[in-house]
Amino acid sequence: MNKSVAYIGLGSNLTTPEAQIKAARLAINALDNVQESAFSSLYRSPPMGPQDQPDYVNAVMAVKTDLSPMALLRCLQKIELDQGRVRKDERWGARTLDLDILLYGEHIIDQPDLIVPHYGLAERAFVVYPLQEIAPALQIPGKGAIADLVSRCPLAGLERLA
Ligand code: ATP
Ligand code: MG
Ligand code: MG
Repeated sequence: MNKSVAYIGLGSNLTTPEAQIKAARLAINALDNVQESAFSSLYRSPPMGPQDQPDYVNAVMAVKTDLSPMALLRCLQKIELDQGRVRKDERWGARTLDLDILLYGEHIIDQPDLIVPHYGLAERAFVVYPLQEIAPALQIPGKGAIADLVSRCPLAGLERLA
């Protein structure tokens, strides 16, 4: 089967977030049929939604994979659980690890449990800036060039970590 390039957004704001992101990177690389092709710098961002929670550490990772989009999502959800993700009713609450599929090749997917490109991609500084860092010429299906998305997306407190 041909490999696709998928982009994964990583985020954490609980229990040593930088270590959570690094552990998730290793866990993703340890998946069968998934190989890292790029990994952004780490970024710090203020929380979306409820403000009474710590800042987030975010990164974006590119992988080559021949897993289907749904199979990749299930693997990522298992890694979230393995790293102590607790699903609560509150939207955008604090979490040890969030792994979202941002893009899967040129695919446009609109299923109840999987929307690709990720529905919030263009509005989120912690997604578009790291994505541009690792894929400056990227075209996002239905949304245009990454450079144009970045130019329309305020930093909103995003900082690249040293
Ligand atoms: P947001 O999706 O706004 O970033 P979140 O990441 O906190 O919020 P989760 O609780 O991690 O949301 O996921 C909620 C549901 O989103 C999951 O059960 C999953 O099926 C669905 N989902 C839809 N599209 C995607 C995608 N592209 N990547 C990851 N999950 C997705
Ligand atoms: Mg998310
Ligand atoms: Mg998620």
